[in-house]
Amino acid sequence: MTHFQFELLHRSKKSRARVGRIHTPHGIIDTPNFVAVGTNGTVKALDNTMLHEIGLQLMFCNTYHLILQPGTKVVRDAGGLHEFINRKMPIITDSGGFQVFSLAYGSVADELKSRGTKKQGGSVLKITEDGVLFRSYRDGAKVLLTPESSIQAQKDLGADIIIPFDELPPYHISPEALTTSLARTHRWEQRSLEAHLKNPQKQAMYAVIHGGIDPNLRKTSCDFLTKLPFDGFAIGGSLGKNKDEMHTMLSYLMPQLPEEKPNHLLGIGDLESIDRSIPLGIDTFDSSYPTRAARHGILFTAKGDLNITKAENSNKYTPIEAKCECPTCKRFTLAYLHHLFKAKEMTCMSLATAHNLYFMIQLMQNYRSSILEDRV
Ligand SMILES: [Zn+2]
Repeated sequence: MTHFQFELLHRSKKSRARVGRIHTPHGIIDTPNFVAVGTNGTVKALDNTMLHEIGLQLMFCNTYHLILQPGTKVVRDAGGLHEFINRKMPIITDSGGFQVFSLAYGSVADELKSRGTKKQGGSVLKITEDGVLFRSYRDGAKVLLTPESSIQAQKDLGADIIIPFDELPPYHISPEALTTSLARTHRWEQRSLEAHLKNPQKQAMYAVIHGGIDPNLRKTSCDFLTKLPFDGFAIGGSLGKNKDEMHTMLSYLMPQLPEEKPNHLLGIGDLESIDRSIPLGIDTFDSSYPTRAARHGILFTAKGDLNITKAENSNKYTPIEAKCECPTCKRFTLAYLHHLFKAKEMTCMSLATAHNLYFMIQLMQNYRSSILEDRV
């Protein structure tokens, strides 16, 4: 077996949903699955041994942030990201492109408010065929990120799955500008792949399918990228301004991806989107939403979100969910968690984050069971 392999275990008879296993040098990722975001090499408020305990199979770290702090050389000299952060299980890193551009343009929601004008403090100085020159938000230093330098950074980090450098155009963009951007992204992705293949280091590379919500451009992107020897496909770029637009786009995009390779939906992890995207054949999702919600006192339960800061929880001497096997529910009550949030004790964030991530892991396990029984 090679260092990276996707094993397709079952295709649902009811939809395009599927159950599989991604084999990586640091173990297996069962699919469909949820990928937690650990931007700086840690999921906020949780240490990496806890992630092993709750069974998080894939963690997403952000190259952009790690380039700026501590610098990828520090990580490389530590023996790579797994060694540096003491993680035994698989890691995926992105190219840094998404953060460079999203910090410059803001999110779709920001954009809808400001109609595409650049946010104050936008850090992109210059985009050329070579790459992107931007200003570090940490110390103001100019940093040039190119396909080659992004891949070098991701080689230093040594994640199991890496991502080619791409351009993230804003949601509000003319069709001509989007076409030009797509062509450049394809050239950048090809250069990234070439740089990667010179020194594969047992890493796998997922292409990023672009094209916004234009069906023709999405097709162009699939046609171009699926012909290259990428190990899997991530769906990126603008995913639309709402869930319906994303669903429509994914409905025509997904059948164009090769069935024998894994795919990943970038930056989406709310429960409704997951529920609508799994039947379309999405294998993995990453999002900072479950962990961010936890830090704000929003706890996920089978009955919906529970706001732990509400007074009604002050004297409930039961776990968040009676059947939950997470480290928080096994040991602590709602009343205690409510108290910790009210007292602004930092422990509350760790306990809430552990529960929400465990909830996501169980949710995906349940989806896999349902698909195996052709119920999804
Ligand atoms: Zn729990």
